[in-house]
Order: sequence, then structure tokens, then C-alpha cells
Amino acid sequence: MNKYQKSLNTLRKEYLNNDSKECDILQELVDKATPKKPTKIYKRCPNCDHKVSWNYYADRKLNYCPECGQRLDWSDEDVD
Ligand SMILES: [Zn+2]
Repeated sequence: MNKYQKSLNTLRKEYLNNDSKECDILQELVDKATPKKPTKIYKRCPNCDHKVSWNYYADRKLNYCPECGQRLDWSDEDVD
């Protein structure tokens, strides 16, 4: 669990109503900041399905989805 998720969990538990809209909004932000792997076949954003890799940019790996801002995790891409 990353530090953002941990911090939000603490807030949920100790200060905020767990079901509050504010918690959901912050959770969305935490999810976006947490690196996720692009989809395997067409390299699309796992959050919004925007294409995040192009053939002519074969070795260009975006850190964030240009569409929704989702943080991307390319860590085991070289295994392919
Ligand atoms: Zn996206």
C-alpha cells in the first residue's frame, strides 16, 4: 500500500465519515497517483482506455495518461 492510500485510510477511519463524498473524491486521486499497468495488447490506459503507446514512439513510455492523468507502471514491459 502506498503512502497516499495509507494516509487516506487513516483519515477515513479517524476523522471522516467513511461514506462521505469527499473520501470518494480523494480515493479517485489516490487511484490515479498509484501506478497501474497499461493493458497488455494495445497499451491502453487501465483507467480510461486511452491509447498510451504508439508504434512510432515504440520506446516512448508515458508516465501519466495524457487523457485522465492515471499514473502508469511500465516496470515489467521489457519481458515481452
Ligand atoms: Zn487514462
